[in-house]
Amino acid sequence: MSEPLFNKIALVGIGLIGSSLARVIRREHLAGHLAISTRSEATLKRAEELGLGDGYTTDAQQAVRDADLVIVSVPVGSSGQVAQEIAPSLKRGAILTDVGSTKGSVIAQMQPHVPPGVHFIPGHPLAGTEKSGPDAGFAELFENRWCIFTPLPDTDPAALEKLSEFWRRCGSNIDTMDPQHHDMTLAIVSHLPHIIAYNIVGTADDLESVTKSEVIKYSASGFRDFTRLAASDPTMWRDVCLHNKDAILEMLARFSEDLASLQRAIRWGDGEKLFDLFTRTRAVRRSIIEAGQDIDAPDFGRQAVEHPGGSRQ
Ligand code: NAP
Repeated sequence: MSEPLFNKIALVGIGLIGSSLARVIRREHLAGHLAISTRSEATLKRAEELGLGDGYTTDAQQAVRDADLVIVSVPVGSSGQVAQEIAPSLKRGAILTDVGSTKGSVIAQMQPHVPPGVHFIPGHPLAGTEKSGPDAGFAELFENRWCIFTPLPDTDPAALEKLSEFWRRCGSNIDTMDPQHHDMTLAIVSHLPHIIAYNIVGTADDLESVTKSEVIKYSASGFRDFTRLAASDPTMWRDVCLHNKDAILEMLARFSEDLASLQRAIRWGDGEKLFDLFTRTRAVRRSIIEAGQDIDAPDFGRQAVEHPGGSRQ
């Protein structure tokens, strides 16, 4: 067997993303030793039952000691507190990264705690499902998905290359961009769609003229597609909304303007405008399929794939 990429990897947080990483690290033999830490005894016990690592602890400091790569996979609102906790135990020369869905806020929270000599490289794999916890993860999650790095001005190119190699071996394609651009891009491709989904499902849940059982019964007409996004982890998405506030508010303002224009077209019977928009949006769907970011099967076709669920940040 070839040499592992890192002698020791520590995973702090072992939910959907952390446990998917653990599984692919094992499969690809990327670590000589894989240390797992999580906040609660219950999650740690489950990770151990699933055999996700080589060592298990609720003490994050202990997990990161001597690690060459430390990956923080916790809700973005907790990343500062985790960085503060592990900072004194980080090894000089280690790479510290995260997987958080927002980048500006994570950098602001974590960077002040990073000791000199530790390479902090913020990252975000654009891969996920609506499930959470260590049972939800799977090794193929990152395959053919993008992992975006938002390196800091003084990031060591050798450390960045080593981390890129790690993610490539997890199956991902790599991109780099500045944190503000990441947060604006993700606001439209991920955060807004989730907020729209939470909103429409909330609206349906509040309706009085249509019963809940009718909404469920006839959901395959379109509503069902929103419920997958709206079933996403409440803690994670509360934190995303609070920690990418400016970009999300800007996208919501544009969205509301466009919605008002659509509303006017419907009210005035402007069929041409509706037809033009719906034609344009159909082409976007085609481009996504051509880029290999979804399959060209009807919605129910998803059940045929081994790990149903979409990719998101
Ligand atoms: P998850 O399945 O809910 O797992 C969360 C993990 O973080 C658990 O180990 C949990 O520990 C730990 N945790 C929760 N609150 C904590 C706190 N206050 N302090 C320390 N640890 C805490 O979450 P996930 O889906 O893997 O998401 C993890 C990160 O990945 C988030 O930053 C999210 O933005 C990002 N991300 C998610 C997706 C996605 O689709 N889910 C995609 C890309 C990136 P216990 O269970 O022991 O409490």
